Amino acid sequence: MKTIPHWIDGAAVPGTGTDTEPVFNPATGQEQAHVVLGNASTVDSTVTAAAKAFETWSESSLTQRTQVMFAFRQLLLAHEEELGRIISAEHGKTVDDARGEIVRGREVVEFACGLGDILKGSYSDQVSHGIDVHNFRQPLGVVAGITPFNFPAMVPLWMHPIAIATGNTFILKPSERDPSAANFVAGLYQKAGLPDGVFNVVHGGKEAVDAILTHPGIEAVSFVGSTPIAKYVHEQATTNGKRVQALGGAKNHAVVLPDADLEFAANHITAGAYGSAGERCMALSVAVAVGDAADSLVTILERKAREINVGPGDQPGTEMGPLVTKAAQERVENAVTTAHTQGATLIVDGRGLKVDGHENGYFTGPSLLDHVTTEMEAYQQELFGPVLAVIRVDTLDQAIDLINANPYGNGTALFTASGEAARRFQRGVKVGMIGINVPVPVPMSYYSFGGWKDSLIGDSPVHGPEGIRFYTRPKVVTTRWPHTGQHTTAGFDFPTSH
Ligand code: NAD
Repeated sequence: MKTIPHWIDGAAVPGTGTDTEPVFNPATGQEQAHVVLGNASTVDSTVTAAAKAFETWSESSLTQRTQVMFAFRQLLLAHEEELGRIISAEHGKTVDDARGEIVRGREVVEFACGLGDILKGSYSDQVSHGIDVHNFRQPLGVVAGITPFNFPAMVPLWMHPIAIATGNTFILKPSERDPSAANFVAGLYQKAGLPDGVFNVVHGGKEAVDAILTHPGIEAVSFVGSTPIAKYVHEQATTNGKRVQALGGAKNHAVVLPDADLEFAANHITAGAYGSAGERCMALSVAVAVGDAADSLVTILERKAREINVGPGDQPGTEMGPLVTKAAQERVENAVTTAHTQGATLIVDGRGLKVDGHENGYFTGPSLLDHVTTEMEAYQQELFGPVLAVIRVDTLDQAIDLINANPYGNGTALFTASGEAARRFQRGVKVGMIGINVPVPVPMSYYSFGGWKDSLIGDSPVHGPEGIRFYTRPKVVTTRWPHTGQHTTAGFDFPTSH
């Protein structure tokens, strides 16, 4: 059986000892590899390599870094299908969906290719007599990223291209559920000409994470995952003096007004709810039907949910694959049972689905629940599976209040034909990313990605301008070049310009 090694200082590194964890194929339920689990000593040796690489990489020219980013971008494009299949085999999502995440991740590399422009400082001439001021930004040093299972390529790509392009060296601790994409990307960076030690991968779970959070040689930590772990990472890393960006979980609402094109809305809500088996932080898990929209909307949602083709992710025609683990499958199916017991109407029941030839896969079908209330567990918990809950309200203002009372604030969408309603909605909701007739409003790479409330702990979204700010420190230089023989008096008062 294959063992997936770390990637440190430009080479595959087997784990120390026998500490490994199995990696499963979610479509078959079979163990397909083992991944090594790093510990404090693995993290320490990786920090040593990354710190050494920082000495030269931080001195590399913008031209050199930009050339590496362009080459890396081309390699991601050339290997999209291959990487998509690697992701699908460990995550379970369809190959096309995996290619989609690679494309969205590649866009961050494209943003980083414009580094020369992005990192331009500013210059103020003659702020005082004979004095000029300019500013520029410098990298932090060794930085780390800790990422979730659901986007094994895209979420790390939100981080490392920007960290590396700005002159830092990077340690990625990917999810232990689907670790292979990280090693594949490491190989592409090497082919792109990135010096050894600039991009490293340490596999593992809590032990490796704790070693990262406490290591004095790591300047900053980027985290994406569930809210309890985001809070833990934020607290531990800030206590240890690091910069932290920590993105957490989500419960995303799609509000449908009676004036919306209901067929259009249902189509997009179905894709947003059940795409990637609901395992997206921007998945739509709640449809809020306003007024008269409810009955017709539920009728169309039911039809569309029943039409979804569930199967293995590498089979052409599959629209929705299995869940990532058996535990996830059981958790989601139990949640549907509980919702039914608590009084929700089970319109489509996805429990117990068997896919021919893949009877041991972690499949569950799309489930649609109607008449869900905010007291039910199906509403209160992030289910992270193919379950769409419909809540009925009377007005748009009630829908906004409902969204604002939810602890999460990652994404939300409004389906309407009214510009006035859209404006009221986008100004009123306490949510970071908003779609107007767009179901999964993931911002482009030149904007930044991040939610509000429990979906983002601390104050830093990822990539785009916020990513540049996060991975660099600003310097402001005040300069005077007196001409030979110039005499100026140096006053003892606090300096002011004149
Ligand atoms: P997770 O929180 O279980 O794991 C995330 C990372 O933390 C992994 O690398 C994991 O190894 C590590 N980890 C897990 N338990 C830990 C512990 N006790 N101590 C230290 N480290 C630990 O999340 P997941 O199940 O891999 O991913 C799904 C979650 O991620 C969902 O909640 C989803 O909403 C969220 N997510 C959020 C965004 C966003 O942008 N806000 C994006 C993607 C995923």
